[in-house]
Amino acid sequence: MERSYLFGAHLPNAPGRFLIINRQKARILQKPFMDLRKGNYVHLPNIHFLFPLHFDDLQLSSQLLESLDSMGYIDPTPVQQQVIPPILEGKDVIACAQTGTGKTAAYLLPVLDKIIRGGITHTSAVIISPTRELALQIDNAFQGFAYFTHASSIAVYGGSDGQVFEQEKTALTNGASVVIATPGRLLSHLSLGYVKFNQIDFLVLDEADKMLDMGFHDDILRIISFLPVKRQNLLFSATMPSRIRDLARKIMQHPVEVNIAISKPAAGVKQQAYVLYESQKSPLLVKLVGQHPDSSILIFASTKANVKSLEKELLRKKMPVRAIHSDLSQQERESVLLSFRNRSTRILVATDILSRGIDIENIGMVINYDVPGDAEDYVHRVGRTARAESTGEAVTLISEKDMKRFAQIEALIESVVPKLTLPSDLGPAPEWNPAAARKHRSNHKKNFRKSKSGGRHKGHFKSSGK
Ligand code: AMP
Repeated sequence: MERSYLFGAHLPNAPGRFLIINRQKARILQKPFMDLRKGNYVHLPNIHFLFPLHFDDLQLSSQLLESLDSMGYIDPTPVQQQVIPPILEGKDVIACAQTGTGKTAAYLLPVLDKIIRGGITHTSAVIISPTRELALQIDNAFQGFAYFTHASSIAVYGGSDGQVFEQEKTALTNGASVVIATPGRLLSHLSLGYVKFNQIDFLVLDEADKMLDMGFHDDILRIISFLPVKRQNLLFSATMPSRIRDLARKIMQHPVEVNIAISKPAAGVKQQAYVLYESQKSPLLVKLVGQHPDSSILIFASTKANVKSLEKELLRKKMPVRAIHSDLSQQERESVLLSFRNRSTRILVATDILSRGIDIENIGMVINYDVPGDAEDYVHRVGRTARAESTGEAVTLISEKDMKRFAQIEALIESVVPKLTLPSDLGPAPEWNPAAARKHRSNHKKNFRKSKSGGRHKGHFKSSGK
């Protein structure tokens, strides 16, 4: 059967109604979204799935819509579109979604909605995260979403300091709507007997694959032994190896499965990479730019400092370059973009502020001077070239410390980017060996992903109210 796609438009002044466009046909559905999911709708041939396209369509509580509005969230992301409705219906959900897809809101919003609507005052949800950084990030997101509600959270992931442990103990004894915790730390508290998890309604396992990689399988099962049997289980994982499916079989009831495919670069982009030492990047960049005297070139670097120093370096070589970064005023940014757009500037150096959304025609080449933080950023950066079916080149410079990260990007976009040989006058290059880079990094106990929260303190009871 032919697969068709559902496009929808929210109808102004008609909440819960959709304009559904199925190929050439357009029709208005008169039922609210939740009724549609239950099958109470006119049969539409060729429509295989129905997703709500706007937060209003999800029929979340008004307090949540208010916080979403104040946080600048406009429409749900695909994982939110697909995961929120079954959670609201009370189903177990297993979702394959990477960081950056909006997965945190995908479970926090419906859980909070149920806590609000049910007027729940007991500890209702426990969210388990592999790392403190992620726990902190989830807690920060919770504080934002719950701002206009009665719901509160406790984050439990403290360090070795006994004072923090006591603070967590007090907070856990007083209770909160949601407990966000790392497995080992939560077990330490649970085994001392003062944590009351007998009324837990929701268990969330976030980054479940990472938790299993870190050896938390048994700890998770032990935590679950403290929870009521009747509860709703939500499992999020970036990958779905058989170990995760085994775990899901043990703890979940007929879960709804959601799989969010990551976007991939357009077919017209010729992707290539160089593996090199940090000190070889700048001379290679100058060569690459020199080899493309007629193309518009967009160069991405991860930090403002790199952007500024690359601009200087290229200016010294008398190249027509400008830079765009967050130190510039809006007016200055617009003027730089305009000069790049009308080709009075041929080379633009930018941080990621430019990688999403901005549509500039005819960029011949994108150079990733630094490997981007995640696959979505890579796809967005590379997508600046080869727009509207044209072709373009994207070259990424991979230093030793970025090999593992680039290998993860290749895994997510499901393609291997050819590694080119460095010009011989730049000297010998390191070998492409992300596995060795991984060992090197784990020895240094570094995290691949940085906390976005900037290190706010933890472990205390926090009421989310104003
Ligand atoms: P996550 O995958 O949960 O780590 O979310 C990635 C980022 O996307 C976070 O900075 C969120 O604040 C942001 N985000 C999540 N959902 C939305 C949305 N619907 N609209 C705008 N930003 C969002």
